[in-house]
Amino acid sequence: MKFIADRTLGKLAKKLRVLGFDALYWGGGNLEGAAKAAATQGRVLLTRSRRVKEKAEGFQVLVVEANDPREQISEVLAKLKLQPPADQFFSRCLMCNEALLAIPKDEVEGRVPDFIYRLYDSFHICPRCQRIYWPGTHLQRMREELAKTIGE
Ligand SMILES: [Zn+2]
Repeated sequence: MKFIADRTLGKLAKKLRVLGFDALYWGGGNLEGAAKAAATQGRVLLTRSRRVKEKAEGFQVLVVEANDPREQISEVLAKLKLQPPADQFFSRCLMCNEALLAIPKDEVEGRVPDFIYRLYDSFHICPRCQRIYWPGTHLQRMREELAKTIGE
């Protein structure tokens, strides 16, 4: 399932990316473009505005009620009955929403801190922003938090 989040739901979009979902963020105030993307790309439009839902044609709208991003992600997963598989977690760039690509260890030398380079063998790169990801301890903590959120 793919998403597009309106400008009030940027943190929710990032959390969806952490779980491996394709989640665009629409930063504009006018939702016409977001509605078009939802309709043509088969995305669920996430919004906090009920009016958007009333006017929506040709795409699915989910009105998010919770205020806290952590509750919002639970709400979206529950309402859509989604159970994202753990092996999809951290498969996307949190900044750009691009799917990450595996990159050989020798190509990241000098591009990540030395201790990180020595510590890990598995690295991924975002094809758009070139940001390099590795399985760090902060990711472990996020995984635990997410596991709690989605009740695994
Ligand atoms: Zn990126």
